[in-house]
Amino acid sequence: MNPTDNIDLLNEQWQGLTAFEILEKALSLFSKKIVFATSLGAEDQVITFMLSKIDRSTAILTLDTGRVFPETYDLLHRTINRYGVEIKSYFPDTNKVEEMVNSKGINLFYESIENRKLCCHVRKIAPLQRGLKGMDAWITGLRREQSVTRNGLKIVEWDAGNGLIKINPLLEWSEEQVWDFIKTNDIPFNKLHEQGFPSIGCQPCTRAIEKGEDLRAGRWWWEMPDSKECGLHGRK
Ligand code: SF4
Repeated sequence: MNPTDNIDLLNEQWQGLTAFEILEKALSLFSKKIVFATSLGAEDQVITFMLSKIDRSTAILTLDTGRVFPETYDLLHRTINRYGVEIKSYFPDTNKVEEMVNSKGINLFYESIENRKLCCHVRKIAPLQRGLKGMDAWITGLRREQSVTRNGLKIVEWDAGNGLIKINPLLEWSEEQVWDFIKTNDIPFNKLHEQGFPSIGCQPCTRAIEKGEDLRAGRWWWEMPDSKECGLHGRK
């Protein structure tokens, strides 16, 4: 079976399965050619927990942009210790970061969407591409209700930008489900979630939100909602 020809079929077959079952199927189908990319957000912690129960040797990667919160490093350390998984950090290319920062400034992202996308490309997208190299599929913690840019997602998708299949097992989960699962299973989470940060990325590009604000209102808050993706998920 060539999975790339059968995305519709997979979506049909996996419809109605639990996230755990989707992960089991995906790991079995793609064997060792599948990787989970975690940002250590709440959803990603749920997936790491499930993977540790299914197969602790599953490849897991995270992107160390050099601008993440200290709390995120702390969580990375705690998660590896708790579950005995390997979470491989991918860093940006030193020369590219130096060139960008020395020509455009350390906080270039506030000046234009173009600059912000450049920074996300250097610090996130290029390292992710290295991490996905040689893989047939990757797993994400995306949920449909997270933002307007994620409305049209499916459980299994062809990620044309990266040339492999993308699997979103938590797609239909609500925020409440995520937190119930975390609390029930005593899963470690980022302390910033208790300080008004539902979505946590790089420190300079993430702020706490007020009650009633959109879940991703704290990410790149100076931009319009429809431009607020870093490019990792091929939307913008
Ligand atoms: S989120 Fe901000 S700091 Fe992080 S890579 Fe993107 S623009 Fe750069």
